[in-house]
Amino acid sequence: MKIEHIGLAVKDLSISNSLFARLLGEQNYKEENVESEGVTTSFFKCGETKIELLKATNSNSTIAKFIEKRGEGIHHIAFAVDDIYAEIKRLEKEGFIILNPEPKKGADNKIICFLHPKSTNGVLIELCQEIK
Ligand code: ZN
Repeated sequence: MKIEHIGLAVKDLSISNSLFARLLGEQNYKEENVESEGVTTSFFKCGETKIELLKATNSNSTIAKFIEKRGEGIHHIAFAVDDIYAEIKRLEKEGFIILNPEPKKGADNKIICFLHPKSTNGVLIELCQEIK
């Protein structure tokens, strides 16, 4: 449907919150812990789309591992979909590797799944569907 948000891995949420508030001219509108992922998220509106800052809350978090390997930066691109189950089926048929074929609860009132970067030119792709 559209790019719902771009996820950025950051080391320090308060530093990055103030940096993006200055960049975008607007404060973040929400912070949310996603315990299952070991992250705290912070969301900024950017027109039709959003910026999601991700900070690890423990050293086992995928964000901690990402920053260890690659440093801060773009972590994933999230596409909004209407029917995540149908999209997972379609993309599996197309040969993409789905990291979690059973969608899980993400931040910002969404169910989400990820595609393995191996199958998407090194870019981690998230599909997300609004929970109604
Ligand atoms: Zn995301």
